[in-house]
Amino acid sequence: MARHGNVETVKVVHGHLRDRIEAMTRRDDTTGCWCWTGNRDAKGYARLRVDRDRPSAAAHRVLYELEVGPIPAGLDLDHLCRNRACVNPAHMEPVTHAENIRRSWEHRAASHGISARQA
Ligand SMILES: [Zn+2]
Repeated sequence: MARHGNVETVKVVHGHLRDRIEAMTRRDDTTGCWCWTGNRDAKGYARLRVDRDRPSAAAHRVLYELEVGPIPAGLDLDHLCRNRACVNPAHMEPVTHAENIRRSWEHRAASHGISARQA
């Protein structure tokens, strides 16, 4: 498999992918979110088909890896803005799955007017 064998090819593929992602996002000037206008999964997360041979991937993870770097193995990307359709890498933080769940519970509790301590 020499397809992605040289650096220039990888740059072109990534540049192309970056453009495609750009074309499918709408920037929200108020929140700073990059809202995904393409396909989304049942939970509302952005989905992106990286290439025809592979199943679609989580778009926010693809963009994070393009812009920031590899996500450490086993970590989730937590949406700090709580907007699942957002793919802005600046709004993402790699956290453990347990931490991600804990934060979303805190957020749910907060949005229902009860503190995490009471819950
Ligand atoms: Zn956001």
